[in-house]
Amino acid sequence: MSADADEMHAKSSYAQTLIKNSQKTIIVKPKGENQKNQSIAKTKSDVLKNVDPLTDINIGKVKNLKDGGVLLQCDSSSNFKQSAMNNLSDQYDIREVKTIGPRVRITGIPDYIKKEDITLYMRKQNESIFDEKSICTLLKYGPVKKNNTIFQAVFEVDLLTYKRALTLGHCLVGLNGCTIYDAIDVSRCFNCNSYGHSHKFCKNSSSCPRCAHRHNLKECQADVEAFKCVNCYNFNLKNNNHDVNINHAAWDHDKCHSYKMVIQKVKQDLFGLSI
Ligand SMILES: [Zn+2]
Ligand SMILES: [Zn+2]
Ligand SMILES: [Zn+2]
Repeated sequence: MSADADEMHAKSSYAQTLIKNSQKTIIVKPKGENQKNQSIAKTKSDVLKNVDPLTDINIGKVKNLKDGGVLLQCDSSSNFKQSAMNNLSDQYDIREVKTIGPRVRITGIPDYIKKEDITLYMRKQNESIFDEKSICTLLKYGPVKKNNTIFQAVFEVDLLTYKRALTLGHCLVGLNGCTIYDAIDVSRCFNCNSYGHSHKFCKNSSSCPRCAHRHNLKECQADVEAFKCVNCYNFNLKNNNHDVNINHAAWDHDKCHSYKMVIQKVKQDLFGLSI
């Protein structure tokens, strides 16, 4: 992967799903004139000179960026950023990147469990999944589509909890046995429909998520037979030998080969991280 792509990852919501949220991600980049020629080795050596390895250096992952920049993931309790800021800020831009952790969806929750209690039920009734260190942040809670007496919840969790939850695949909430699903998702750009960036930063020409033509979704006249996924279309274009199915909307995750590949990549990166 190129350094450019690495940096885009660091900024994007796509990358946010790569990183467990008990870590923080910091980018250190040479400022101004230094930027053009500086080697990554020099940046790394400056970082190492300016942080205390005994207290600051709990670093889980390092990536090289363009223009002599480095991306560092460290434990959220690490005071890396402050030390680095104090000593390096004359020569370097240092910024923290917001990160989001893995997610699980729990369905089958009885409607008598109130939103403010659901996290407690999850933790107390499912101690084989959640321990005292587990991160468990409620993101969504509400009835399932077809039955408003059955609720579902989406939680952001840490990587260990995520693995335990999906290995088990079920949990207890109140007197109901509930099913646990993987809720790792990546966001699609509303403008060009590709993954890994927000429409706010999109410089690509726009495309329709239903039919892949160059118009806004609101203007789309395509019926189901004319649905065409722009991501799978581009995938086939780029990979001459491939002929993945393109007859679906870009949001149809079950049918979309491109989406599945992105999710696969996210998980590879996620599980590749040291815990
Ligand atoms: Zn875009
Ligand atoms: Zn269209
Ligand atoms: Zn597709």
